[in-house]
Amino acid sequence: MVRFVDVASMRRWVRDVGAEKIVQSIAEVIEHDFRRWDDFDKIARIASHSPRGVIELMPISDGQTYGFKYVNGHPDNPDRGLQTVTAFGVLADVDSGYPVLWAEMTILTALRTAAMSASAARLLARPDSRTMALIGTGSQSEFQSIAFRALVGVESLRIWDTDSAAMDKFERNATGLGFAVYRAASATDAVAGADIVTTCTADKQNATVLTSDFVTPGVHINAIGGDCPGKTELDPTILQLGDVFVEYTPQTRIEGEIQQVAGDFPVTELWRVYRGEVSGRVSRDQITIFDSVGFALEDFSALQALHDGVQGTDYGVDVDLVAKPADPKNLFALVADPASASAG
Ligand code: NAD
Repeated sequence: MVRFVDVASMRRWVRDVGAEKIVQSIAEVIEHDFRRWDDFDKIARIASHSPRGVIELMPISDGQTYGFKYVNGHPDNPDRGLQTVTAFGVLADVDSGYPVLWAEMTILTALRTAAMSASAARLLARPDSRTMALIGTGSQSEFQSIAFRALVGVESLRIWDTDSAAMDKFERNATGLGFAVYRAASATDAVAGADIVTTCTADKQNATVLTSDFVTPGVHINAIGGDCPGKTELDPTILQLGDVFVEYTPQTRIEGEIQQVAGDFPVTELWRVYRGEVSGRVSRDQITIFDSVGFALEDFSALQALHDGVQGTDYGVDVDLVAKPADPKNLFALVADPASASAG
């Protein structure tokens, strides 16, 4: 039997346990897994592009457990009443090859992306950061805010979105969560005085949601929306102003903000900072940029946290996903007319 966590179970788990606690537990597993970077068999995700979006498969294995996520990115989907990003994923036992967990990952991806962003900010942002600008107040934005409060101490948010209804929705949700929210009149208004800038917009183009003249000394930029070839958010000159940190360089060179600069543009992989081999922030005035695209390792970690969190509970059900004939060589017995086949 395979544990299946559907959307209803995921909602119940997050509501009962609390998004802050879950984000913290996912961040812990992410940090542990980044520190054991060499244990993983890693590849850049496999993308299938179409005019409207992308569908991606994100596999990874540590030799004992294999995981993958199916995820899409369709920036125009909200215009059709659909979400930009949806996902599901699987964990499997490498020894037998059998799946052990199958889960919805639309909500889990928002939690893991937020956990990753805030965990990276703990290494890269000024420790006294309390104000964050959020450019793009769609599906990821509340999760980002919760994680940055839980892990970094952010209390005050300065928001901007080209869709005023998305700002209304965010203001309602974030005020209900106890955040102080300033509704900016533009992206430049939003970033003024912010310690951290999170860009989480969706647009299938090389957009410029932030220009370099508004990037101030000491700021940390958490850029999560540029995650596909031809889909970026930052004016590329911003990358020259600071130090760029990435998850997995081969994938980020294809998908991240750094696709806009030379292939040998210097970046630091975060696992080296988690391990203490290189420094994150080294001075108050340093500009740090997390060029986030979302790497399979984070999904693996999130699925592990979910697996541990729901074990022995009723969050999810056991489903009969793998055919199990009594004689492993007699699979046909499961479908044959009982009168004409040997017993299975
Ligand atoms: P969403 O469609 O729900 O929200 C995006 C918001 O951005 C919308 O409200 C839209 O109006 C706004 N927007 C678009 N262009 C803008 C601009 N120029 N200025 C200000 N606002 C603008 O999408 P989402 O699920 O919140 O995801 C946001 C982005 O994050 C997407 O691009 C998605 O692909 C990406 N993402 C990245 C990761 C990662 O790990 N890096 C994970 C999940 C999602």
